[in-house]
Amino acid sequence: MSAGSDAGFVFPPPAGVSLPLVGRGERFPVRRVYCVGQNYAEHAREMGASGREPPFFFAKPADAVCGPGTLPFPGMTHNLHHEVELVVAIGAACRSVSAGQALDRVFGYAVGVDLTRRDLQAAAKERRRPWTTAKGFDRSAPVSAIRPAADGGHPADVPIRLSVNGTIRQDGRTGNMIWTVPEVIAELSRYFELQPGDLVFTGTPAGVGPLVPGDHVECRIDGVGELAFSLGPATY
Ligand code: MN
Repeated sequence: MSAGSDAGFVFPPPAGVSLPLVGRGERFPVRRVYCVGQNYAEHAREMGASGREPPFFFAKPADAVCGPGTLPFPGMTHNLHHEVELVVAIGAACRSVSAGQALDRVFGYAVGVDLTRRDLQAAAKERRRPWTTAKGFDRSAPVSAIRPAADGGHPADVPIRLSVNGTIRQDGRTGNMIWTVPEVIAELSRYFELQPGDLVFTGTPAGVGPLVPGDHVECRIDGVGELAFSLGPATY
């Protein structure tokens, strides 16, 4: 049945996910969520890698994106980890774009947390199985409002921090990325045709660690924004 059919849908189509913009009334509709793994050498080493291997990509479902507030603590894990990340919001289509032209495709930037069921990820790595249940679960991608690059520019080497219950856990600089933002976009666009609405999580600095029910998480990337959320009680 084509989209133009007048037969209607068997149930209402999903409303879709969108994020607010800093200082503007419009919203940014989310299409896809791509993530870079091990894009900071110190974090790669804390995950048991050499820190010299190239980063890589994985993905989360678009509707894993959620806003601030209280998130229910996810089931099926006893080792939920935080990973604060600079999130790039794509504003124009591109395929095999050069790094030199990549920033022209960026709409803006946000602060995100790549929530990870580390225990399931470790088991998947060991068995060479996919990471979907470890990375792509419901509400696994809290994201702040997006700051348009037209207003805030492109962050270069700025502090990226995450605290849990007031204690700083991650304290890095975006300048320590192995692949820079233009390089991430260029490389990703060789594998996928990027479209407006795509989000790209660009990797986390060192200091990832466990979260427990009731924790309050605060994140900040200078010049980009802030994100805060709490975790509700365990539901399992
Ligand atoms: Mn990550």
